[in-house]
Amino acid sequence: MPEPLIFDLSSPGRKGVSMPDSDVPHTELPQEFVREILPLPEVSEIDVVRHFVRLSQLNYSIDTGFYPLGSCTMKYNPKVNEDAARLAGFAFSHPLQDQELSQGNLALMYEVQEWLKEIGGFSGVSLQPAAGAHGELTGLLIIAAYHRDRGDHKRKVILVPDSAHGTNPASAIMAGLQLIELPSDDRGNIDLDKLREICDETIAGVMLTNPNTLGLFEEHVQEVAKQVHECGGLIYGDGANMNPLLGIVRPGDLGFDVLHYNLHKTFSTPHGGGGPGSGPVGVLEHLVDFLPGPVVDVVDPGDEQLPPLFGLVTPEKSIGRVKAFHGHYGMIVRAYTYMRMLGKSGMRAVADHAVLSANYLRVKLGDTYHIPFDRICMHEFVAEGRWSDAKDIHALDISKRLMDFGFHPPTNYFPLIVHEALMIEPTETESIETLDAFVEAMLKIAEEAKSNPELLRTAPHTTPFGRLDEVKAARELVLCCRPEVIQKA
Ligand SMILES: *Cc1c(COP(=O)(O)O)cnc(C)c1O
Repeated sequence: MPEPLIFDLSSPGRKGVSMPDSDVPHTELPQEFVREILPLPEVSEIDVVRHFVRLSQLNYSIDTGFYPLGSCTMKYNPKVNEDAARLAGFAFSHPLQDQELSQGNLALMYEVQEWLKEIGGFSGVSLQPAAGAHGELTGLLIIAAYHRDRGDHKRKVILVPDSAHGTNPASAIMAGLQLIELPSDDRGNIDLDKLREICDETIAGVMLTNPNTLGLFEEHVQEVAKQVHECGGLIYGDGANMNPLLGIVRPGDLGFDVLHYNLHKTFSTPHGGGGPGSGPVGVLEHLVDFLPGPVVDVVDPGDEQLPPLFGLVTPEKSIGRVKAFHGHYGMIVRAYTYMRMLGKSGMRAVADHAVLSANYLRVKLGDTYHIPFDRICMHEFVAEGRWSDAKDIHALDISKRLMDFGFHPPTNYFPLIVHEALMIEPTETESIETLDAFVEAMLKIAEEAKSNPELLRTAPHTTPFGRLDEVKAARELVLCCRPEVIQKA
């Protein structure tokens, strides 16, 4: 039965608040401010509470179930991060406050910058970018500024592998660069011969995702870096998915000149509801001067009596600001807390378990689902959601049916180079019992695909709403729960 809308509960004159008697003289509002028709429901307080609590329970979330949405790293977000972000000294400080009064806040930013430098093998970090894609744009603007500064004006082309995240080509175009797509070979690596052919004095750089969106470690990463550097280009790293590398390998050591992190994936700040995110960029020495500013630095090292003094510094050839104030500060506090809680050995354990969980699922599902690039994976892997003996079944049907088993579907139809892609990322925070339950559901669905395909095609059956017409929903957006009421008003 459909849930009642709050408007259906409306009863004329019913109120959710009781106002005290007025103790000031009564005055008429100016007529131009009074609306004749204001279609708001008239309901009691408990109606409102029940309405919103009911709505919140319709959501699927990481706090309610397994969420293997590939590339998005939907890991558990420890609640202690939230406590830290709500501490009054963080939550109520103002970015225009004097720097002397913000020393604790600046110290925290400085430490996060230092740790991200250490984790990635970089010489400088800016915390400004608001999300991963914003970090990409920032990194590309840094690369462009570097070439411009050297008078190297011909470098306008950026190479992007066909397995890249969709944001990569979009960021390249936003940065004013021309795009050339690099094909992948049959092991899911960049095709080196093709790269050799294309590389010339017009190349600004390459955008490399490692591990790539197939969840595979780019086996020729150092060779790609060498070739691109030899022809004068720089290496941009999409580090959105750093969880399988933490404490094992540093992108800066592999030849990446600039890389963005996703604090809201790797460092457990919440995401999935549209933000806010945080996409800091790290750079090697030759790009430090171009970082967006200001960044936090030690402006006076202090002595035995006095602690160091932190201040805001704008790098010499900075590309300028990419975000108001200091980025999404609350996200930086959450990431700080997460890193402090884990420490070095904990970070390494994140990587070990993220990789182990993904490989566990890959092997358990590998006999039933075709995995086109089947080698040891990093934090995720991509399976095909199709079988030759169940012709009418698509990846989408499998995903919808998974919802009946209480699981969030994996990422569908991405990366584009795999047919009917199901991109599965379990993350390091799931127990073996959860992984086993997921395997069991996936195997059951594979069986149903052959014995009862209609069950899949009409799924989901147990959710508040069944199969929606996604194309119609996207084309004819209705953002109001009572469009006819608003239209009348
Ligand atoms: C998530 C992701 C991005 C984009 O990050 P946003 O914060 O969503 O902008 C870019 N690249 C890869 C590989 C990703 O997984």
